[in-house]
Amino acid sequence: MIVLMKKHATKKQTDRVINKIKEIGFKPHIDHGISTVIGVRGDTSRFDPDVFYMDGVEEVKRVSKPYKEVSKEFHPKKTVVKVGDIEIGGAYPVVIAGPCAVEDEKQILKTAEGVKKAGAHLFRGGAFKPRSSPYSFQGLGEEGLKILVEARAKTNLPIVSEIMNQTQIDLFEKYNIDIFQIGARNMQNFDLLKAIGQVRRPILLKRGPSSSVEEFLLSAEYLLSSGTRNVILCERGIKTFETAYRNVLDLNSVALIKELSHLPILVDPSHGTGIRSLVAPLSYAAIAAGADGVMVEVHYKPQSAKCDANQQLNLTQFKALMKSIIK
Ligand code: PEP
Ligand code: MN
Repeated sequence: MIVLMKKHATKKQTDRVINKIKEIGFKPHIDHGISTVIGVRGDTSRFDPDVFYMDGVEEVKRVSKPYKEVSKEFHPKKTVVKVGDIEIGGAYPVVIAGPCAVEDEKQILKTAEGVKKAGAHLFRGGAFKPRSSPYSFQGLGEEGLKILVEARAKTNLPIVSEIMNQTQIDLFEKYNIDIFQIGARNMQNFDLLKAIGQVRRPILLKRGPSSSVEEFLLSAEYLLSSGTRNVILCERGIKTFETAYRNVLDLNSVALIKELSHLPILVDPSHGTGIRSLVAPLSYAAIAAGADGVMVEVHYKPQSAKCDANQQLNLTQFKALMKSIIK
């Protein structure tokens, strides 16, 4: 439910509404725009909105969508997630680059230095890898996080890495991982969402390959309703009948989510296509569709990558991509 205050409502009138919300046992969420919008957090479905018609109130409305805090109705102003000086959802597209997996120190340092030089804003790499086969490389685990931390110290690029379950939260905190990535396979791991939603860290939530836009936004709602506002969405392609590429990069979702939600959204054209030569054109298409940036897999020697070798750019290709994105 949202309480829309009149344009010239006084602070006293706004405070009275806020106190009423608290008194009834809900939590207020205040968004100061041209008019103040006060979101009522919690399950208000059986609650009579008339209670909030007080002096200074223009309108009390139920949020029509199943996801509430994620919706633009609840929070009309665009959310900008800050990582140091970098603004995700700000005025310029943000680029996260780095290999699929952390393989060794040399691979990470060479790749991190290369992407930094080319102008990337953040560095990525999986230390814990969710692989379809149990016999495939599963990542270096904690050792991988240590190498990422070394790369951050050398390049000053904040680091993004995937967290696979709740037991890893302390470890990710210990190494001060700048953005906790929730992978596509875990998008509907609701216990994980609830636990990470309580951590005050930026979260990158990837869309499940078989999830609808509504399910994607409801997963984000789990995070927001657990307390955080630092959520970045990431479209990474969906499964369809098409087998010519790994996934179909659903750019409709980017344009639609921009209409439905205040959260920033990035696009991952690497997993979205699975084909190296398609990464640049789909990066441009993503930005044209309104994405707040892209996350791209880059490896200093893609041909020797331990996973996703076919979709990782080399440093020369990444440099060319960055040049065009900046332009
Ligand atoms: C990744 O970004 O490393 C990854 C595994 O992607 P996804 O979860 O989208 O498959
Ligand atoms: Mn990958």
